[in-house]
Amino acid sequence: MTIRTQEEIVTRIWALRADRGDIFGFREEVLVEALDLDHARQVIAPRHPSEWTQRVDHETYARDYLRFAIGKILDHRSNSASRSVDKLSELAWLLGRDDIVAAMDHPGYPMYGAPKVKAFADGFAWPFLDDLDGDDRLALARMTEGQQCDPQGCERGCAD
Ligand SMILES: [Zn+2]
Repeated sequence: MTIRTQEEIVTRIWALRADRGDIFGFREEVLVEALDLDHARQVIAPRHPSEWTQRVDHETYARDYLRFAIGKILDHRSNSASRSVDKLSELAWLLGRDDIVAAMDHPGYPMYGAPKVKAFADGFAWPFLDDLDGDDRLALARMTEGQQCDPQGCERGCAD
């Protein structure tokens, strides 16, 4: 479910294109899947309409995507982490949470976006650290605070 109308989603896609804030199209990807086929046709030209899949349950998708995003942070995958932050931000918008979008916009981009992803999880009161085990939990907690994952010093990119 989304509180956004189809027209609002189309308008947001045009706005993202206009201000070039979504160079790789990751935000648009999330938005387009929230459109029905008629509205999707306004922004893309699906070659085979039968391949079109509309996502209806954004909340389940967002919860799953949050776990994926946390994995990318822990794996120190900067491109994937950046992509997942973009997608989570659009999911927050689709779910009607402008406050979370703003909270995610606020900080810079330290530690593979860990503070932004935490802002997303906290905004929805969804688990962030809770279902991680010892080492991962400690690493993610540290990264969220802008510290290197390992107190001894990280050799995988935190210091870059
Ligand atoms: Zn690290």
